[in-house]
Order: sequence, then C-alpha cells, then structure tokens
Amino acid sequence: MAISYDKKVENQLLLDGGNEYFGSGAVVILKSLLESGISYFASYPGSPTATVTSLVDKVKHTVLRDLGIYAEESTNEAAAAAALRSSISNPIRGAVAFKVVGFNVAADAIAHIASSGVTGGALILVGEDYGCNNTIVAEKTLPYAYKSGLPILDASASLQHLSDLIHDGFALSEYSGSPVIVLVRSRVGYMSEVVKARDNKRPEKVQVKEEILEKLTFPPYTQIQEAEKYTLRLPKATEFIKEAGINRVYNHSSNKSIGIITHGVLMNMVLRALNSIDEDCPVYSLHCLYPIVENEVAEFLTDKEKVLIVEEGMPNILEKEIRSVAQANGIRTKILGKEIIPKAGEISYETVLGGLSKFFQVQVDVKGEISALEIPERRPTFCTGCPERPIFSAIKILKRQNPEARLLFSSDIGCYALGGLPPFDFKGSVTGMGTGMASSSALSRAGKNEERVISFMGDGTFWHSGLTTSVANALRNDQDAVLVVFYNYHTAMTGHQRNLSTPREVKKLKKVKEN
Ligand code: SF4
Repeated sequence: MAISYDKKVENQLLLDGGNEYFGSGAVVILKSLLESGISYFASYPGSPTATVTSLVDKVKHTVLRDLGIYAEESTNEAAAAAALRSSISNPIRGAVAFKVVGFNVAADAIAHIASSGVTGGALILVGEDYGCNNTIVAEKTLPYAYKSGLPILDASASLQHLSDLIHDGFALSEYSGSPVIVLVRSRVGYMSEVVKARDNKRPEKVQVKEEILEKLTFPPYTQIQEAEKYTLRLPKATEFIKEAGINRVYNHSSNKSIGIITHGVLMNMVLRALNSIDEDCPVYSLHCLYPIVENEVAEFLTDKEKVLIVEEGMPNILEKEIRSVAQANGIRTKILGKEIIPKAGEISYETVLGGLSKFFQVQVDVKGEISALEIPERRPTFCTGCPERPIFSAIKILKRQNPEARLLFSSDIGCYALGGLPPFDFKGSVTGMGTGMASSSALSRAGKNEERVISFMGDGTFWHSGLTTSVANALRNDQDAVLVVFYNYHTAMTGHQRNLSTPREVKKLKKVKEN
C-alpha cells in the first residue's frame, strides 16, 4: 500500500508529552518508538508494517537524524533482524519490523539473538496477517515465540493500546533480558485514532562494548543460555506481565459461572457479539500470548462451569495451554474452543458471533447481521496500466502461436504472481521469496517432457534473496531456464519502497565506485 506523508506528520512525530494527535498506525508506531528512546530501526517492507518503513524513509534525514537515530531499509528480513545485535551486550534500545511471512526469513538471526538475550530493550514488530489480507500464506507468529522463547504482545483494536504496549514492551525486554515481539495486525496497523503523545527521548550515545563472552552463541554458552531462557528470562517476563497488568479482564459481569478467554483484537469482537446477543459474562483477554501467566488463567477458570476460548486459527496453542493449566490445577471447568470456533480463516465479528450463539445456545441470523448485500467475489489483479500486463499478454500470444512448446512457469513473491490468475493463467509455483526459479530445477528434469522453464521475478525480490537463492543455484547446477526480471526500480508490491535498482541508489553506488 503506497502512502505519502506530508509535513504535518513530522510535526506529529515531534509533539511533546501532554498533547494529543490523530495519527495513522505508522505514525503512532514510530512516535511510540521515538518516545521510547530507540537508537536504531531496521525493517523490510511487508503489510501492514510497510507503512512504517515508508514513513521512516521519509523522516530519516530530518526527525530521525536530528534525534541521532540510525535507520535502515534492510535488504531482507534477516538483515533487519540482525540489527538487534546492537542490544545484546549494550544498553541500546531499538526495533525491527517486517511482516509475518518475513519472520521465516528472519528466524535464523532471531533464534541466535533470542539465545544470547539482550541488555537494551529490543522489539520485533511483526505485521500479523493470518487472514491473508495481504499475505500469500496463512501464518501466525505465535509458534515462533514458543520456538525461540520470546514474549509476544497482542494489542486490542486501539492504537493507544498498541502505543502503550510498545512502551511496556521495551520495559519488559529490559526486565527479562529477552527481545519482545509486538504484533501489528492489519486491523490495527491501518487504523487512525487520537493518541496521547509523550516526550521523545534522545538516545544516549554509549561506549560500544565488545560482546560479552557468555552472550556468544557457542558451546558451552548455548546450553547455558537455553537454561537461562526458561529458568530466568521467561519467569521474569511472567512476573512483569502480571505486575504490569498486561492481560485484562473486561466486562466484570454478575454472571460468574461462564467466561470467555480471547486475545488481541478478538476481544473487541467478543464484546460486540455479547452485546448483539444480549448475553453477559467476564472476558479475559490475553495481550501477552506467551508466556501465559498460569495463576491468572487458573484464577479465571476456577468456579466457572464452562469457558469458551476464542482464538484465531491453528495451531490452537492458547487453547492447549489453557487446558493444560486446568489439568495441572485440578480445575474441572468445561473448556470449549475449536469445536465451535473456526479452525481456519481470519476471525471476524461474524465468526465470533456465530461461535458465541452456539456457546450461549441462542439463535442468531449471522448472515443477516453481515449485510443484505451479496458481494461478488473479487480476485486480486494488476493495477490499471501496470507495465507487467503486456509482458504476460505477449507470452500468452507466444504460447498460442506455438502450441507444441512445452513450458514450465515459476513465479515468485510479487505482483507478477498474479500472472497465475485469469486472464493469463500461467500457473507457476509460488514457494516463497526468491525461490521461484530454484523451485523448477528438479521438476523440469523429473518429468517426461523436458519442459523449458520461464521464471518471473521482480527487482525487489531479486535483491531480497533471488540473486543468491535462485540465480546462484541455477548457475551452480547448470539449470536451463529463462529468468524474466521485472525491473521497475522499486519494491512495488509493498508500496514502492526503494531498493538497489532505484536510480538514486544506483547513482550512490557509482559514486562509491568512482571514489
Ligand atoms: S507492479 Fe504491482 S504495484 Fe506496480 S503497477 Fe503493477 S500491479 Fe501495480
């Protein structure tokens, strides 16, 4: 999503405490980071955090430079995540951002930094998009939090809440010695809201220390760090989450025998649905999804006859955690979850309403609640005037004129993946950033037909990982393929961010070469 920012935004970013401002998601996120005293910010664009990358690019040479903050548009998510190294042994605060599928690319760097732990507050802002509003596959960040032992915060549908959680996240990170994940869901990241400003904090320049030996991810320290993660850092994180009241009980109802446990923005949908069906019960909302505060959960379950867990998607980790807390504490409350809440798809108000109507056994016309209008299915397509269209048209004509040609198409992650849909129908693979051409190497040689491979890739993907993952692999393994690079000078799909093909960047590189 391309967004341009004007001078008004700079003024919002410079507001002192005591003021209020009507900010978009990107502005509120960046303002909260400035208020927290970050020294660095690194990101790779992906919705909805791509708007933060674009905003940072816009104010990098004004607001951020004046505050002494280093900001980078990283080449990919792994490079962005690696910037967190600054916080390992030094009391330096910073943040990195990318979307949920980008976590797959960043995971190696994050696993190492999560093992070392941090001294300065370190946040990982993740554009969460299980509903695939912008993302190609349905993914949740929560399993990564479990895998790497990282606290993970999930705001309600409120930018003020997201801002507060960013402040809490830095304090939590420093108190527990762990990087902290903060989810930025599409439904929050694209909101605008009146938010209270706090004073910006200029980061102090520190005498950079070499890494402390115990923080290096080498044996024997790796196992010591692993033990420290589960015996020291996560217990401290749990203590902080409880003391700071991160998780909240909403709707202190008189009906104490029934309860609902939910998380993040789903809490707002649960309250609205309760209101719609005229039912009432307390709602415990997890705004920290991991670690779970066991005694808080046990306290909520105790004395309830039945509790419904409204959790987005699968795996239903929260439900399993809550069942295990009940079992460990001898609590016999009936727990319902995925029996009535859909296993797949983004949770919306309508799905919550459907689930609650079954839980409370009331009749609801969910369809009638949605809308009387039948909305036709709309497939994603190229923008009007997109220069990629004629290329696909030309290949389609070529194919029609040469029906004997045996072609195998590979696509990658970018707008050109839409070539797989009508009217072009080039049903190539989509296997993740930079992997398109590599995904055809075995297939083109395993079949009878010896197909010729045509692979599509944008210049954003080329610089992200396509050069090393697909091109280098093809050269190393004598792959016979044609690679079409859509060279439009920008990372287009996420909102026209600059990359190494952008003329301004090319000019810079030429200057470096001349010098
Ligand atoms: S490359 Fe993508 S963003 Fe650019 S015009 Fe085409 S469809 Fe639109």
